[in-house]
Amino acid sequence: MRATGLHEDVIVVESRVWRTTATAVRSGDEALLIDSPVFPDELALLPSLFEQARFPLRGLLATHGDWDHLLGRLAFPGSALGVAETTAERLRADRGAAQRALRDFDERHYLERPAPLALGSLEALPVPGYCGLGARELELHAADGHTADGMAVWIAWAGVLVCGDYLSPVEIPTPQEGIETYLATLARLEPLVGAAAHVVPGHGGPIDAATAVALLAEDRAYLEALRTDPAGAALPPRRRDREQRRLHEANVERLRGANL
Ligand SMILES: [Zn+2]
Repeated sequence: MRATGLHEDVIVVESRVWRTTATAVRSGDEALLIDSPVFPDELALLPSLFEQARFPLRGLLATHGDWDHLLGRLAFPGSALGVAETTAERLRADRGAAQRALRDFDERHYLERPAPLALGSLEALPVPGYCGLGARELELHAADGHTADGMAVWIAWAGVLVCGDYLSPVEIPTPQEGIETYLATLARLEPLVGAAAHVVPGHGGPIDAATAVALLAEDRAYLEALRTDPAGAALPPRRRDREQRRLHEANVERLRGANL
């Protein structure tokens, strides 16, 4: 697991699997962890890592309800988990979905965890909106399209945008909730990316702002091509490996089925 300091108040860790990111943000003597790494040893390291860095964790946030972003409570069992209202709804509607997906992943990889995942009582946050942290505030912006739920977190004083599963340098867009919704989220993120020093995508980050601007343009071009001619859409330049072609096929298949 790699840890990178982006700002005196922002540390990003990157999991060995799917390059999943988790971002700790601090204001004064309070810190929050946004999303989570995946492997048990990575989660076990977090408390001492943040203690040494003097980031006193007082809560957790998740950008969206996909299970691989929800594991913070395995590292900080007593902490409240704040999510967008849309994510709270999604998790309540399908109770146990995250736990089932985690169990499936662990069984496939022969992983053992010291305790099962309990999400506890979710704190549903209005989005767009703000989340107080110390004397400062995090700005929450809707980020749906990849899934039906989700939010991006703008850490204004550090110039860091934590955007969930968008703008990934390693993964093409997977618009499970529709191309238009996804494009609208990209348009919403665009001014924040323009103002950012760093962007932390859910997978494969952190990246600098210039890279994020370029990825946003590539993702928009890919989605527009997918909308016009699904089968003929060209994949973004550095995201054409076998797994990305598989995700692309799934996009095409989903469009055939749902006419998004
Ligand atoms: Zn993800």
